[in-house]
Amino acid sequence: MCGIVGYIGHREAYPIILKGLKRLEYRGYDSAGIALYDGTDIKLSKTKGKVADLETKLEQEISTSGSLGIGHTRWATHGVPNDVNSHPHYSNSGDLVIIHNGIIENYESLKKELIKRGYTFKSDTDTEVLVNLIEDVKKNENTKLGKAVQIALNQVVGAYAIAVFDKNKPNEIVVARLGSPLAIGIGEDEFFIASDASPFIEYTKNAIYLEDEEMAVVRRHKGVKIRKIKDDSLVDPYVQALKLNLEQIEKGGYDHFMLKEIYEQPNAILDTFRGRLLTNEAIIKMAGVEDNMKKFLNANRIIVVACGTSWHAGLVSEYIFEDLARIPVEVEYASEFRYRNPIITENDVVIAISQSGETADTLAAIKLAKSKGAFVFGVCNVVGSSIARETHAGAYTHAGPEIGVASTKAFTTQITVLTLIALRLARAKGTISSSDYRHHLIELELIPAKVKKALESDAYVKTVAAIYKDVHNFLYLGRGYNFPVALEGALKLKEISYIHAEGYPAAEMKHGPIALIDENMPIVVIATKKGHYEKVVSNIQEIKSRKGKIIGIVTEGDQQVKALADHVIEVPETIESLTPLLTTIPLQLLSYHIALMLGKNVDQPRNLAKAVTVE
Ligand code: GLU
Repeated sequence: MCGIVGYIGHREAYPIILKGLKRLEYRGYDSAGIALYDGTDIKLSKTKGKVADLETKLEQEISTSGSLGIGHTRWATHGVPNDVNSHPHYSNSGDLVIIHNGIIENYESLKKELIKRGYTFKSDTDTEVLVNLIEDVKKNENTKLGKAVQIALNQVVGAYAIAVFDKNKPNEIVVARLGSPLAIGIGEDEFFIASDASPFIEYTKNAIYLEDEEMAVVRRHKGVKIRKIKDDSLVDPYVQALKLNLEQIEKGGYDHFMLKEIYEQPNAILDTFRGRLLTNEAIIKMAGVEDNMKKFLNANRIIVVACGTSWHAGLVSEYIFEDLARIPVEVEYASEFRYRNPIITENDVVIAISQSGETADTLAAIKLAKSKGAFVFGVCNVVGSSIARETHAGAYTHAGPEIGVASTKAFTTQITVLTLIALRLARAKGTISSSDYRHHLIELELIPAKVKKALESDAYVKTVAAIYKDVHNFLYLGRGYNFPVALEGALKLKEISYIHAEGYPAAEMKHGPIALIDENMPIVVIATKKGHYEKVVSNIQEIKSRKGKIIGIVTEGDQQVKALADHVIEVPETIESLTPLLTTIPLQLLSYHIALMLGKNVDQPRNLAKAVTVE
């Protein structure tokens, strides 16, 4: 994955591309580069490191004029992050310049062929192979850039979003996509290219999202011509009006996106409810579910496919669907799903969860499920994303852009959507009484205010973080609905503080991890009043006997755990199925504060990227 940006128009491209790269940095941040073209010379600069490093380099190195330009922020797949492997890449002649997001899977065989034909390579990337393949086709077929890109892409196996220009054609950029997102912003006599719309939101609200297997030639003064890569047919551009605004993609006074997004959760959950949760009428309205009610009601089981944090939301939903709607659920790592010949039938409903809607492993799982005839339902945050398009139906989380790499509001809004679906199905199946159903709706409606209350623990969580920031291991325990929350809490800590942490079902502790416990080991135990409380209290006793340090996440007013634990962090009371929406909050804050105190880059943790668009 990575972020790509391009501009062609009447302004200086440099500031637009630089700012755009900063906004896309969540997608990858191990190296960055820009190529600018003023019609005479191409100025290309790239470096290992962040966009800020590129900016410093550019200030010293070259002039930055040119009204055509492309830029890239990389998450390396082929070749270590260094200056040479950074994008953009030149073709051998120096005429073509490319940026690429994705993987060219057959790059080795293509490279061998090109080497036989005299091409040489400076980098280890698959991308440099692609740009030379385009050059080779262009020369051999004596054709224009657009046609050469098309012919070359028909020889390529893999995934890509690319932007490429030709020194001999100062008025056009050619773009294409397969499996990686690409948006074209349409301004007044100017065009913007980007992995998502955030780089051009202040210039235009009109954008075309390329579909898979489409390419476009973007011409100065002339506009955008879109074709299918395979059969060359022309496509009528569909220009969408963007709803995104600048405020949503800026930090808004917070030090980090992650903190902003943690604090946005009360509103994000409200946005997830909007138009769906009608408590007074005792109705849940979700078009994607309503229109496919038969599929859901006839389902033998639900298979959830997801990765990372979304997989944890899937695990929470297993409890909700089975508990409320009495539908058997299996939760699968999307990255493993297709490697074990899974048994999927037409009577299965597959729910695919992904914040970005671009997760390559999840997309592959969806394609497999569809090929076996299952009905596939998507739960994504990014509107118009690949998963949203690839699934038969779905429900957006409407959490707004999530930019911090460690997912926070996406998790709680995913759980919210899945809870709404489970309740709707439970009602339709009659597996929940009408009084219980109403009670759930009322409690659900109170959640945003309770999340706000849970956020009040922030200052206290910070003091706990200060005590434990230097330990090397953490254990997180939870039972029932809160077991997946323990997993998610541990993942958050690992992701941004690089402290080793494990999540475990509280009762499993005695089957192994208990051996790890000594006076140096902090153990976060989720022990809310609803749900196996007494059992968890017993587990806490067991930890106490072994001198572990206990950080209890408890229901407001709890006394029993308080008497045992070293620290307790309170969350408001709610019904058991909704506790994950509250217990998650202090765990997010704990990882945030620890990472910050350790001087880690909270929004851009090492080795990670926001949308995992490679397998
Ligand atoms: N495969 C290309 C590389 O490693 C692009 C990776 C990306 O999407 O950033 O350079």
